[in-house]
Amino acid sequence: MDKTLCQYHPTQPATWQCSPCQRHFGDCCIPLNADAPDDAPACPLCRSPLTFLGAANTAQPFWERLPQFFAYALQTGPLAFAALLALASLFMPRSLILWVALLSVATKYFHSVIEASSEGRREAPSLMEAFTGEGFSLFFKQMAVFLVALGALWLAADFDSEVVFWGMNIAIVLLLPASIIRLALSRELGAALSPDQVGEVIRAMGWRYLILCAFLFILWQSPGYVAWMLASGLPKVVLMPVATFLFGYFGVVMCSMMGYAVFQYQGALGFAIAEEGAQVGLPEQEWRRRRALADAEIRLKEGQSDGALETLAKALQRDPEDLRLNERYHQLLFGLGARERCLQHLTHYLPLVARQNPALAATALLNARQLQGDYLPDDALVCEQVATALLERHRVREALSLLRNLHQRFPDYPHIPRAYLLAARGFAEGLGQLDPARKLLAYIRARHPASPLLDQVAALEETLGRLEGVRR
Ligand SMILES: [Zn+2]
Ligand SMILES: [Zn+2]
Repeated sequence: MDKTLCQYHPTQPATWQCSPCQRHFGDCCIPLNADAPDDAPACPLCRSPLTFLGAANTAQPFWERLPQFFAYALQTGPLAFAALLALASLFMPRSLILWVALLSVATKYFHSVIEASSEGRREAPSLMEAFTGEGFSLFFKQMAVFLVALGALWLAADFDSEVVFWGMNIAIVLLLPASIIRLALSRELGAALSPDQVGEVIRAMGWRYLILCAFLFILWQSPGYVAWMLASGLPKVVLMPVATFLFGYFGVVMCSMMGYAVFQYQGALGFAIAEEGAQVGLPEQEWRRRRALADAEIRLKEGQSDGALETLAKALQRDPEDLRLNERYHQLLFGLGARERCLQHLTHYLPLVARQNPALAATALLNARQLQGDYLPDDALVCEQVATALLERHRVREALSLLRNLHQRFPDYPHIPRAYLLAARGFAEGLGQLDPARKLLAYIRARHPASPLLDQVAALEETLGRLEGVRR
């Protein structure tokens, strides 16, 4: 099964689907609201509720996670479980009922590991889960499955043909994991023996099911081999609990792998579970902004530029001061060449962006000038702030045009000396024009003799004098 990707971001795995629109969306396109976590998100295009795909496209393949399965079985729950088996093998009396009870507890624990892993949980079930709740009948169902397998093998042995016998052996090795997974998920003997339902598990994984079987086969042999290697050195009284402990440990490793394989192929198996911690909701305000931005981007990529503008305009009605939304709206209007609307929006956007991000304001002004060659903001402070940012970008002429005749355009503006000092620097340092610079400084001295900036005026005059000396 190939991974499905976000329709609009081909590097992002899909996590949501809209059936009417036949579109897949990644988390990139569908931000979640932390204040309303139970609300199913709506399709950005048609507003019908989206279908969650869970981790079907995001889960790491099980063959890349082998160390994690061994680590999984080293948690307290599995270790306590393996220790319990080891102790029982040492001290438990030889009573059939007690052994059946122990094996049913073990079966229940193994199945709860498969179940927990299939739901993407990283924490192993505690030992208590082996003793509490329902599911003890699982042991008998599991035994029934094993008996059916043994019966099939016995029948095959009757044929007196090596080929038939080994064929049956291989078939059982290949079918058993899928059957165990089925039983763990549905807890029904019928499902575990139904060729259809077992086949569904195998079909969902495709040929990679063979990888799973190979790993499980190796793991199944492992405790035996380890015990065999230890056999020569250890007395039987020690060997028995060690072998039982290893059986418990490797059993949990195998079950966590089977469970995770189900988690990984959840999409094909027809259910959807998110990975722990994968879904993070955003605070309401941030969520509204991100959704508007994502929706606008999707509409734009669908070729619905009017829809994109509408989305942003609506979001701006709610949050008129949101810089990010305003910036995107401006970019979109400018990019689409919507001249009138863009100029109209600039009267609101430019003061806002000049306050919060002057560099961005400089870009907006240069855009405005492309739409209207003599564009001037109708606020003196905005002119001054944007001029400062433009000077930093060495756009001297554009900066100076914002400051030209400022005292006539805004007679009440209290920061004329500061603005003209800036303009004088622009002329002198940016354009190398000393005369206009000196005139501006003279204007400050004449009209604002009490200005606290006179020190800086004097310093700049001195620099101008020195520059002139160098030129002569
Ligand atoms: Zn996306
Ligand atoms: Zn839709």
